[in-house]
Amino acid sequence: MSDLAVELTAPNGVKYTQPIGLFINNEWVKSTSGEKITSINPTDESEIASVYAADPEDVDKAVAAARKAFKASSWRDLSSTSRGDLMFKLAALVEQNKETLATIETWDNGKPYQVALNEDMAEVAGTIKYYAGYADKIHGQVIDTGPNKLTYTIREPIGVCGQIIPWNYPLAMAAWKLGPALACGNTVVIKAAEQTPLSILYFANLVKEAGFPPGVVNIINGYGRKAGAAIAQHLDIDKIAFTGSTATGREIMKMASVNMKNITLETGGKSPLLVFEDADLEQAVKWAHIGIMSNMGQICTATSRILVQDGIYDKFISAFKDHMASTSKVGDPFNDETFQGPQVTKAQYERVLSYIEAGKSEGATLAAGGEVFKNAGGKGFFIEPTIFTDVKDNMKIFREEVFGPFVVISSFKTEEEAVDRANDTTYGLGSAVFTKDIVKAHRVARRIEAGMVWINSSNDSDFRVPFGGVKQSGIGRELGEAGLAAYCNTKSVMTNLGSWL
Ligand code: NAD
Repeated sequence: MSDLAVELTAPNGVKYTQPIGLFINNEWVKSTSGEKITSINPTDESEIASVYAADPEDVDKAVAAARKAFKASSWRDLSSTSRGDLMFKLAALVEQNKETLATIETWDNGKPYQVALNEDMAEVAGTIKYYAGYADKIHGQVIDTGPNKLTYTIREPIGVCGQIIPWNYPLAMAAWKLGPALACGNTVVIKAAEQTPLSILYFANLVKEAGFPPGVVNIINGYGRKAGAAIAQHLDIDKIAFTGSTATGREIMKMASVNMKNITLETGGKSPLLVFEDADLEQAVKWAHIGIMSNMGQICTATSRILVQDGIYDKFISAFKDHMASTSKVGDPFNDETFQGPQVTKAQYERVLSYIEAGKSEGATLAAGGEVFKNAGGKGFFIEPTIFTDVKDNMKIFREEVFGPFVVISSFKTEEEAVDRANDTTYGLGSAVFTKDIVKAHRVARRIEAGMVWINSSNDSDFRVPFGGVKQSGIGRELGEAGLAAYCNTKSVMTNLGSWL
């Protein structure tokens, strides 16, 4: 075990054993080639640990373990209530270990510790519990097809599921995918993002401790183009679920076509937030700020395009700037006062800076931020929260997903114009509407092309509520009851009770 785990002390003093192997068949193993991924602390650019990166051969081993587990009576014949019990146990273990899990998440990802602890870990445990409760409530139907027939449907697990997750909410994204997959009785090979490989390995030990049979949950790290691609095109994987960029989602779709995998994709967005003149301005400002600036702007549903009705445009900008200045404290994510930590990696940091340059050269007005933020020691991937105003619809910063603490604000005159411009995007993930007029709110909600509409809030996600996109923001839904549909096949059984014709 010694060469498959390391003893670490996190910047907040938490000491723990960090697994570094691949978790296959409930065992820790090295990768075939011995290749490793080194995790970097985005706060000070130091190395945290190196973990094994799966090769396609390792993916084969994980898939073989998942297939064996799928066929084994220890999983297939386990009562659905017992399946739920295992999941409840896992959720309880997450709660018991939440300080360590949140510490790893903050260290590796850069998100504020208080957020990792009180929001992300609550989301992880809550989602697993929510789906644990569903495990023995996944039923088919009896369909009346006449007096001489007995016709019913059975909802069956799909089989071996490949799950590829991003770095912005590492464990929460794992929970969103594992919860419904396990509740439905599937087995899983899940790959974490190479930028944030650590927390999911600690979580893997909890899977074993909860008592899941070997091979039911296999957890690997690996590079997207190697391990991710091997999952997407594996002939013995029946379903693929992915969260990440639209470009990668498109690649995965192509690869998954090799055996027509069942597919769910949750990809990018450029979600609009509309503020009408009759809105509660203070509330609109607070939610708009949370909607784009939380999690360092690294949220797929971030309401990154704010459209404000012209009568309150200047007032909104000034209130938004004031609110941001008083609440967006940038700095060490382990400091309880911090609202915004570093961007996850140097690549993401440079990407956001390139959009700041694009905004300036396209002629938008830089209303706040726009600079790197110097943390103590001068290291780390910190960026000042940035606002561009007077942004035109054809500008790159109005059209492309930035994925950072970066917002564009533009004005509109009429409801018609606001809706048309909100919909003038290839994306369709989140959206928000601020008005006190409930008729207008629901009229606009219907006309917006998005998977989710928040009325008088933003990014108010809840594991009981379906989450997903339209257009190039994805296929299928996660969370809520709808999330189960992505992990079950419906089989129809027709019995002839009468004679032949
Ligand atoms: P990405 O989409 O490339 O990576 C997400 C996951 O996909 C990772 O696990 C990665 O290893 C895997 N992956 C990458 N290439 C793959 C391939 N060819 N085959 C199979 N799997 C592959 O995202 P990124 O490069 O880390 O981030 C770039 C941009 O993506 C961000 O700036 C942001 O716009 C977007 N993003 C969106 C989300 C989201 O929640 N929707 C999350 C992360 C990133």
